[in-house]
Amino acid sequence: MFGSIHSGPQTNIRDGPLQRAQTKAVVFMVCSHCGTVQEAPSDLVAQGLQGVAEHAGFKPGHPIVELEGECARCVDGKAA
Ligand SMILES: [Zn+2]
Repeated sequence: MFGSIHSGPQTNIRDGPLQRAQTKAVVFMVCSHCGTVQEAPSDLVAQGLQGVAEHAGFKPGHPIVELEGECARCVDGKAA
């Protein structure tokens, strides 16, 4: 019998084995002009990274992507 193996409160186990497909990647967007860092979750990016990782036989943890470029303010107001 396996009655008392888990005695403590269990973490939320979602139904189904597809939980990892719902993982969102966090995209950090770093402005190379003013240094502003924005972050946005993206499940689309997560899926892409998952595919790349699986292809390489790599087991991904928390997907994090850093994107360097220009923030909206710097794009809009170059003069400032
Ligand atoms: Zn900026």
